[in-house]
Amino acid sequence: MFYCKKTARLTFEVADVMLQRTRPARSRNIIAVAETKSKLQKKSNVNQNILHKRLSDYKIKFNLDREKLMVKRIKNTWERLGYLKAASLYTVAALITGFLVYGSVIAADVHFAKEALVNGKTVGVIKNTSNFEMLVEDMRKSLSTTLGKEVSPIGKPVYILRLVFGKSLTGEYALRQNVLSAFDDVEEAYAVYVNDSLICAALSEDIVKNVLDKIKSQFSEDDVNAEIGFVENISIRKEFIPVGYVRSADGVYAALTSPLEGQKTYAVTANDTIWGIANKFAMSVDEIYCLNKDLNDIIHEGDEIIINKSEPLVRVQSKYIYKGEKAIPYETDEVQDFDLQSGKKTVVTAGVEGKKYVVEEVVKQNGEVIETNVISEEILSQPVAATVKVGMKKSLSSVATTGRLSRPVYGTISSRFGYRARGFHSGLDIAAPTGTPITAADGGTVNFSGWNGGYGYLVRIDHGGGFETYYGHCSAMLVSVGDKVSKGDIIAKVGNTGNSTGPHCHFEVRVNGVAQNPSNYLN
Ligand SMILES: [Zn+2]
Repeated sequence: MFYCKKTARLTFEVADVMLQRTRPARSRNIIAVAETKSKLQKKSNVNQNILHKRLSDYKIKFNLDREKLMVKRIKNTWERLGYLKAASLYTVAALITGFLVYGSVIAADVHFAKEALVNGKTVGVIKNTSNFEMLVEDMRKSLSTTLGKEVSPIGKPVYILRLVFGKSLTGEYALRQNVLSAFDDVEEAYAVYVNDSLICAALSEDIVKNVLDKIKSQFSEDDVNAEIGFVENISIRKEFIPVGYVRSADGVYAALTSPLEGQKTYAVTANDTIWGIANKFAMSVDEIYCLNKDLNDIIHEGDEIIINKSEPLVRVQSKYIYKGEKAIPYETDEVQDFDLQSGKKTVVTAGVEGKKYVVEEVVKQNGEVIETNVISEEILSQPVAATVKVGMKKSLSSVATTGRLSRPVYGTISSRFGYRARGFHSGLDIAAPTGTPITAADGGTVNFSGWNGGYGYLVRIDHGGGFETYYGHCSAMLVSVGDKVSKGDIIAKVGNTGNSTGPHCHFEVRVNGVAQNPSNYLN
């Protein structure tokens, strides 16, 4: 721009110099005219005659006047010519300046833009008025949707043409905010954004901050040094928003703790399978079971299946250092005994859990451990392996097995078979109150009844043909090794022993020692 001004001035100076050159010529002309005038006056004095005095006088006067007129004409013509020259020079200068200014304008990213005014207030500097009006109308429509009522249009915008730098155009966010502020159904509030999506707003920043603290406090840790924060990026912005978003503290709390999506269900059709449905919605069979805790393996036409995950909108993450003792599970060595009846097991030496002192970093999300990073570990006592005799003698009496298993406990399925956040889950967890009877899933012989590390109190039934069922975390065992049981007999009671987070029965199905998905055997 500076260069441009300078150039323009320079151009005018050049034009001026050119005019200066023409000026002496013009003043010379004036001197010439003046000389002509005096010469003519002398000539008139010579021509004095008494007789023809009047006539001469008249003639002289006439000639004089004619000369004067001519001189005047010449003078006028010269002056006009001078002005014309000056004018044309100024025009050329102006044109050159114009081109230079235009060039500089293009180079400096300067454009013609329009200042848009709504109700006498500037809302922004824009380029395209029809785009602007479309934006205003779009915002009115979305505002109407948000508020659930027709919002009346804002006043007709007024535009003022301006020459601006490219960067001087009003940004999208500011433009939207200014347009929004022109609507009656909008107010300035503290908007809460979760990962950049507007969730709700409150009239004071403290309302939002208190709600966030309340959510965090629900997952507080005993460790005062625990770092507690949100997994999601939460921001509070003071801005103009539709009044429909403004909530009380309870409303903000509800908005932030509600599930991310409302649950969607799918109605089963005649030829559907769980696998097929999972495939259709790009989910795993496991995810379907997770969402549908009471889902039976046999689905029927018309059944409603929940098909989308619903996670809370914001998750609290806590991170702290755990220092303390932990048990080390023991292993079980099995020794084949050909004198012992097949399916029977006797404990030769009981296992003893070891102990270790650990320092580990624990990461939790909404109270659930998602990560454990061991920092240091010191073994205090080594575990002692248990030794168990396994009967190999073929049984003479055949066990009445039906081949189809019944559910051992009636309750809620709290975890399915397969890979979980904490690793592979080898069975099916059925949650039920402590003391709820556990029944044999099929007929067979009890081959284990006692404590077994993480399983807590465990009952195992041998159904023959390498087929076994396990019932873990029991509070009481009602059968002993070698007992013959029929399908449906009460064998134990639900408990919370061993590695368990609440009363449930860990039900496992094994074929030749390999854990199977119990869902494939239940009828
Ligand atoms: Zn389990």
